[in-house]
Amino acid sequence: MSDAEHVDVAIIGAGVVGLAIAAELSSDRSVALLERHESYGRENSSHNSGVIHAGIYYPPDWLKTTLCIAGNRLLYAWADDHSVRVRRTGKLIIAQDEGELPALEELLSAARLNGVPELELLSQRQVVSLEPSVEAVAAISSRSTGVIDQMELMRSLESAAVANGTSVAYVHDVQHLERSGVGFELDVRDPQGGELRLSASALVNSAGLAADRLAEALGYDVDGEPRMRQTVNKGRYYDIVTPEKASRLQRLIYPLPHADRSGLGTHVTLDIDGGVHLGPDTEWLEGSASLDFRADDARRAEFLAAAQRFLPWLEADDLLPGQVGYRTKLSGPGEPPRDFLIWEDDGYVHLGGIESPGMTASLAIASRVRELMG
Ligand SMILES: Cc1cc2nc3c(=O)[nH]c(=O)nc-3n(C[C@H](O)[C@H](O)[C@H](O)COP(=O)(O)OP(=O)(O)OC[C@H]3O[C@@H](n4cnc5c(N)ncnc54)[C@H](O)[C@@H]3O)c2cc1C
Repeated sequence: MSDAEHVDVAIIGAGVVGLAIAAELSSDRSVALLERHESYGRENSSHNSGVIHAGIYYPPDWLKTTLCIAGNRLLYAWADDHSVRVRRTGKLIIAQDEGELPALEELLSAARLNGVPELELLSQRQVVSLEPSVEAVAAISSRSTGVIDQMELMRSLESAAVANGTSVAYVHDVQHLERSGVGFELDVRDPQGGELRLSASALVNSAGLAADRLAEALGYDVDGEPRMRQTVNKGRYYDIVTPEKASRLQRLIYPLPHADRSGLGTHVTLDIDGGVHLGPDTEWLEGSASLDFRADDARRAEFLAAAQRFLPWLEADDLLPGQVGYRTKLSGPGEPPRDFLIWEDDGYVHLGGIESPGMTASLAIASRVRELMG
């Protein structure tokens, strides 16, 4: 990228969402995609469960629902067209005792109202026939849930964007932003530590955990309306490392979510390579906390106790600490969840709180950004 370059659209952040937006917008505009790390997806987009969600958990009119359902279909189709590995594993949401049955049925009705396809209520016998190692009295089966290779997905999105002429600039850290006569001016630190200036007619802030700080730099009151101030919530995983035990599980297994949707409960995910994981858990962090992606072993007992409720054969030695991720949230501790914020203001598009199901929704978010930009 050269100094004093002008593009139609500058996008900050090469996570899965920024890449999807670059692939979408570059079909008919000049685009620069700026990323501070050496490559794509070094933050949220590589430290997640890789689940293609179905759209079950949130209200019908939320973007987290509509863009998830649309994104689910788009993602499977994209994966087919671009040779990205996916597995339609399916998922079971289980009732662990009779007392949970009303909540399970309520969740199923809500998911059907959302328009989620391929759902079914399973009896205990049906659960046993599908997952003989899981203890449950009933389950919702979601057949449109699956898993994807996130890194291959991002590689394919980057290739599509580059094929359309996008200038992708890694190790380019956006330091300062301002509005100008042409639209926006961005001061960027380049790989040599020098500064360069880029101008753009439109600006998409897809900076994940840093999106609120960049909006503030542009002059927005992040505590005003719309609220852009983000909070960070850590999610740890444990891996089931005893091969024979890991091989007992064929599908994603989720307990019922917390009633306030603050978390989905300790669940089992499979990854595209066959790894089996528990988690992620939830832990609120102070805004100033530094993000440490190294595995930590602070919660083995809690994970084991939660998982043993439906996997009674699991033992402490079957677990090793797995990856760690950091959710980008718009709600704080004790607050109800909030929807994605996808907001346009005179050429500026802000993407806030793009937590799960953001990867599933990525292609649908990109279409939404195109609509907003006209
Ligand atoms: C624990 C966990 C599990 C999850 N599981 C799932 C799941 O199973 N399914 C699902 O659909 N979603 C899941 N998600 C959500 C999903 O990972 C995110 O919604 C998605 O990755 C968000 O992508 P993004 O591009 O917005 O953000 P990111 O991937 O974080 O990308 C933002 C990028 O912006 C860059 N950036 C920031 N500031 C600057 C700057 N000043 N200059 C240049 N670059 C900058 C960053 O370096 C970063 O690369 C999960 C999230 C977490 C944390």
